[in-house]
Amino acid sequence: DAALQMPDKQVASVCPYCGVGCQLTYNVRANRIMSVEGRDGPANHGRLCVKGRYGFDYAHHPQRLTTPLVRRAGVPKSAGAPMDPERVMEVFREASWEEALALAGGGLARIRDNHGRKALAGFGSAKGSNEEAYLFQKLVRTGFGSNNVDHCTRLCHASSVAALLEGIGSGAVSNPVMDVLKAEVVIVIGANPTVNHPVAATWIKNAVRNGTKLILCDPRRSELARHAHRTLQFKPDTDVALLNAMMHTIVAEDLADRDFIASRTSGYEALVANVAQYSPEAMAPLCGIDADTIRYVARLYATSKGSMILWGMGISQHVHGTDNARCLIALALLTGQIGRPGTGLHPLRGQNNVQGASDAGLIPMMYPDYQRVTEPAVRERFAAAWKVPAASLDDQPGLTVVEVMEAILAGTVRGMYVMGENPAMSDPDANHAREALAALDLLVVQDIFLTETAYLADVILPASAFPEKTGTFTNTDRLVQMGRQAVDPPGDARQDLWIVEQIARHMGLDWQYGHVSAVFDEMRRLMPSIAGITWERLEREDAVVYPCPQEEHPGTPVVFTEAFPRETGRARFVPADIIPADERPDAQYPMVLITGRQLEHWHTGSMTRRATVLDALEPDPVALVHPLDLAALNVVPGGVITLASRRGTVALYARADESSPRGAVFVPFCYYEAAINRLTNAALDPYGKIPEFKYCAIRITPGGTV
Ligand code: SF4
Repeated sequence: DAALQMPDKQVASVCPYCGVGCQLTYNVRANRIMSVEGRDGPANHGRLCVKGRYGFDYAHHPQRLTTPLVRRAGVPKSAGAPMDPERVMEVFREASWEEALALAGGGLARIRDNHGRKALAGFGSAKGSNEEAYLFQKLVRTGFGSNNVDHCTRLCHASSVAALLEGIGSGAVSNPVMDVLKAEVVIVIGANPTVNHPVAATWIKNAVRNGTKLILCDPRRSELARHAHRTLQFKPDTDVALLNAMMHTIVAEDLADRDFIASRTSGYEALVANVAQYSPEAMAPLCGIDADTIRYVARLYATSKGSMILWGMGISQHVHGTDNARCLIALALLTGQIGRPGTGLHPLRGQNNVQGASDAGLIPMMYPDYQRVTEPAVRERFAAAWKVPAASLDDQPGLTVVEVMEAILAGTVRGMYVMGENPAMSDPDANHAREALAALDLLVVQDIFLTETAYLADVILPASAFPEKTGTFTNTDRLVQMGRQAVDPPGDARQDLWIVEQIARHMGLDWQYGHVSAVFDEMRRLMPSIAGITWERLEREDAVVYPCPQEEHPGTPVVFTEAFPRETGRARFVPADIIPADERPDAQYPMVLITGRQLEHWHTGSMTRRATVLDALEPDPVALVHPLDLAALNVVPGGVITLASRRGTVALYARADESSPRGAVFVPFCYYEAAINRLTNAALDPYGKIPEFKYCAIRITPGGTV
């Protein structure tokens, strides 16, 4: 009966997955999402990828957490044991909200009072709304009493942001993705948009069709190579060599934009002196790209009317991630390819709200809007707004994601509150991270499923899925967009904002927000970049791009047109030299592991692996290996292989894949049964504190048990 299939309501919202921020419509009947359609939003104009269109029914999955759970007395936390969904109730018992909140909030307060304010830490989530991120960081800063708050931006673009703040004074993108349609030349480096930002990839392909020249630079040859004018498949870990060689060419051939350099930048001489040693001839053998190609691409980028650079985790997830980003920034400054439509720098944000969560202060060194915790005037401003004594706010940056794990094992951090993150899967050297989480006196986890992290918790608080709440989300283009509630949470699951507020009350804070819009209103009064975006305006317009300083301001898609937001108004060149990966291949571990994502799955897989269509498309853990490497191992495609690093072993299915260079293996990190982060290296970039997910030494042996 067709009438039975008709939705009884349609709800305008945004996609819960990547940072492109596609607007969509939920078709809902009887509190269930039936289907999803694309809407005409500024970032997608009706387009959706497979995740956005089909990845919605995880919200109705029978494994949803619907009641608070408390670890049974005497049941140990076993970091090494795999989670057994059949035996969950042997580990946990159901509890009332009253009991669970008292154990969680009361327990965190006791640790703070007995062991000091640095004994607690909190991880928020880039999947949550701006309001959730804001309240969570406020709870840590005013309730826990420290800046020990972070989230997965530390695993994503922390190094890019460190370089951008240092060089041009702002961590956000300069131009929207859609500006590729106005660019003559587009460089995509260390990114695979077809997989990770699929709708953005469609705009890049449209641009190519209109005549834009695409330069693709990546150790892996992605699908976008079919559309590229040039593909530079450089050797892994040689980004700085390649980019410095391009800048060497631009300086040597007098292609630099001297007017721009003179009027808008500082530090040019130091950059010139540094790149002098990086001739294309010298760097060609190192990065595996011939000198003529390096020179050709450098000329093309420098001399076009508009050149734009987009990058991803291939740039950021290295011990030299900040240096990689410094080189990209220098390339744009050197040629004046920034501050106009069709130019600029665009670090493609991964999660749908990783930009907003960072903006909202979910990072250990900054309050909302990147106001530093070390500046007394900033602390005073926030203390006045939050009605707490300025002296009660910690004046030192807190611990980052990986540093928190070390602090737990050192006995410094004893209690944690994790809202919507899954560090047991997403952190590098995951065995080590799981040992740390298991060693906590108290771990409170707020989530929608029993994740690998929740399995190590003392108290689990059942939260709301994306379509079950209203809030704002900021996409990769700095667009603040409205996500609206389409269905109610199942059982006794509650909205995340309500849970954070309850924990705050149990820790002695008297918060009375009521509607989510009250939280947003407090945010915009403390964040100059969104001061002009009112809740009513968002309800009306759905999306407003910041900076938007006044209510009548239209928003600013392209920034740095006149000046850079640094004290001098000038951007700064920061030269970079080659720093090798922390762990190079050797006789024992002769190959390189690169981790990342798949088109069908999202991050640690807790949502997409429970979405029927997506799970059917990619049901099993796979490693992508060059066919010749597989043949050398005598393994047929589809066979099982075991990967080993100095930190662990993982067995999965081998897929023959010519996009991976010989000697390098690509593995998605979404499969709990083959958690590849058991192998990755926790070595950190010294500036962004981001781990080196894109390079560690491994060996492959045929066989194993998946
Ligand atoms: Fe969602 Fe990103 Fe796909 Fe758009 S491109 S539908 S935001 S996952």
